[in-house]
Amino acid sequence: MPGELKIISEIRKRARASTDVSVGIGDDAAVIKLCGERDLIACSDLMVEGVHFRLEWTDAEMIGRKALAVTLSDVAAMGGAPRFAMMSVALAGKLSPEFIDDLIRGMFDLADSCGVSIIGGDTSSSRDSLFIDTIAIGECPRGRAITRAGAEAGNDIYVTGSLGAAALGLTLLEQGFTLNDEQNKVEKERGIAIRKQLAPEPRLEAGRLIGESSLAMAMIDISDGLSTDLWHILEESRCGAIIHAEAIPIAECVMNLGEEMMIDPLAFALHGGEEYELLFTARPENHTQVFELFKTLELQVTNIGHITQGGGLHLERNGSLESLAPSGYEHMI
Ligand SMILES: [Mg+2]
Repeated sequence: MPGELKIISEIRKRARASTDVSVGIGDDAAVIKLCGERDLIACSDLMVEGVHFRLEWTDAEMIGRKALAVTLSDVAAMGGAPRFAMMSVALAGKLSPEFIDDLIRGMFDLADSCGVSIIGGDTSSSRDSLFIDTIAIGECPRGRAITRAGAEAGNDIYVTGSLGAAALGLTLLEQGFTLNDEQNKVEKERGIAIRKQLAPEPRLEAGRLIGESSLAMAMIDISDGLSTDLWHILEESRCGAIIHAEAIPIAECVMNLGEEMMIDPLAFALHGGEEYELLFTARPENHTQVFELFKTLELQVTNIGHITQGGGLHLERNGSLESLAPSGYEHMI
């Protein structure tokens, strides 16, 4: 069966966009010109039981919340503000009315907390798996959406927050750990990682403010892993990049649990998916403004490298350069 990227590329080749479409298939979200001073941003995301989540690892409330969170994150990745959402579900007969109530509550709790109105959706039945499709609609000032295609040689590369915890959370869930035991320090750190996996917090305010500030040249949210998502920027912007191993902000829980779990914390930070942090580039003369913006947001931002004219993606470690293959997650469909 062809991979996700191959299918998207086939659909992209056949899509005929009208002149009202500023950004079509292939970015985090589409951007459509409206009559006034705002552009419309639209995207959707499908979550499938057994592929994106397992019922034995999480609860209905977190599933509903995450389904909406990952879609809103794509609006933030365009530098926009999410305003409306729709959610369609295909429900398997095994699910109780309480489960469905909790699923809806999780979605509404997040929507209410970030000013998003749920305006529709659809329900259907499924033989044995739960499917959730979420559509988000947002907006940004006209012509100001930040795509993956705007990076220029010399740009600094920034990432919000820290990386690796969501992938560590997935590993812990696969090993049978749950959120139930959080008595000591190790258990608490496991809990942080599992929560980052099950209940990600999209960087909505940061995305909107980066968009309003016009500081970013290209932006994407980290859903497939830093190496893969940076690669998407490099492909669309037709340039290369060098990132510095020592600069990558590895999540504290990944550093602290790395040895015990016999994992390489840097590999988790470079390739782990589902972080929903923002990855963006900005001109070096805007360095101070970027850090000032994030100071007001009280959010960590780290300069991890820079964009080059070409030459692919490289990792600088201990003074030497090594080629870095995009090794993040691609959903097999
Ligand atoms: Mg995305």
